[in-house]
Amino acid sequence: MHGAAALVIALVLGGALFASCPARADDGFARFVSGLRPEALALGVSEATFDAAFAGLAPDLSLPDLRVPGRPTAKGRGQAEFVKPPQDYLKTSYLARLAVRGRVLRERHAATLARIEREIGVDRAALLAIWGRETAYGGYKPKHDAIRALATQAYVGRRKDFFRGELLSALRLLQDGMPRAKMRASWAGAMGLTQFLPSEVVKHGTDMDGDGKVDLFDSVPDALASAARQLKAKGWVLGLAWGYEVVLPAAERCALEGPPRRRTIAEWQRLGFKRVAGRTFPSATDAVEAYLMQPAGAYGPAFLVTENYRVIRRYNMSDLYAVFVGNLADRIAGGGDFVTPWSDPRQLATRDIEAVQRHLQESGHAAIDKVDGKIGSATRAEIGAYQIAAGITVDCWPTSGLLKHMRSVAR
Ligand code: CA
Repeated sequence: MHGAAALVIALVLGGALFASCPARADDGFARFVSGLRPEALALGVSEATFDAAFAGLAPDLSLPDLRVPGRPTAKGRGQAEFVKPPQDYLKTSYLARLAVRGRVLRERHAATLARIEREIGVDRAALLAIWGRETAYGGYKPKHDAIRALATQAYVGRRKDFFRGELLSALRLLQDGMPRAKMRASWAGAMGLTQFLPSEVVKHGTDMDGDGKVDLFDSVPDALASAARQLKAKGWVLGLAWGYEVVLPAAERCALEGPPRRRTIAEWQRLGFKRVAGRTFPSATDAVEAYLMQPAGAYGPAFLVTENYRVIRRYNMSDLYAVFVGNLADRIAGGGDFVTPWSDPRQLATRDIEAVQRHLQESGHAAIDKVDGKIGSATRAEIGAYQIAAGITVDCWPTSGLLKHMRSVAR
């Protein structure tokens, strides 16, 4: 009660303090802009372009992930206290709808997609899936002015240095003729049909429709070819499936999850791993390396995932994102839903997941290199190893029962 009251007072005072000195904040932003100027000019941005970009611009302090001086930092603002459960993120009805539309677009853009496969070497279904995931094939229009969003993040964001680089890239795009009015972005500055960061556009922007301009907003060929170059640069292998849904030979085998325990598909089969529903692995995959990935531990589908899965994760560092894109690609290519259903384990609060991670670290599970409240492959595998060693039920998932066990042993 006391703590909560103090927090409310701090919020009120912080807000009042901040509201009472807007001039100081503006001075700070003006200093930030003039500090940026020489860096931009050194990259070939003209004085006219630079000055036009910032004329009358004020930071947008309503964006997420900021650390505004005089305003208390709300920890994890914009982040759910509970991590979104896999079955909500990978909503079957939404995936099915996107797949129907994706198949229509696959026909409409068949010539472009064939040319991209030939010249760049990235599979059409994967590109369509990324386009579907990022903006629902252009149906979602980000609402922020890219320069303002990036400048705000570079000025008072939690990751200033990263966004300073992206802002400089965006200024280079302006200099090269990208129209400011088209540059609408997410709060984190991602733009266009497949949500490119400005530095990625500078590196991989491609004029595939041949009109002399790179247009990632209205030209589907330009956007898909640019996304393909981005995936290729991250290591995409043409014709390689992202992964296979599998059945484990025994529940305890969930402790084999994660990139450090990757092995060939042939070796996984020798360990007794099988594809679901009696499907067989294509014989050409025998020597393909894959690792075990179970986004919900024992409470959902398990996958053997390949290099292309890792490429999708390099595009967006999230297992659920990669599984979403992979499954959507499979559906566009004629596949369907996962065979194993998601059951619904009670999701622990972030602080309880952190407590599980701390217990694992303290009991010598070295693979937990950071306590971040996020359930990744390393956390799931180490929970499995802990459960095997403790002789309790193995589900490779942080539950309240597991935390209770850890606390009783620690005491
Ligand atoms: Ca073009």
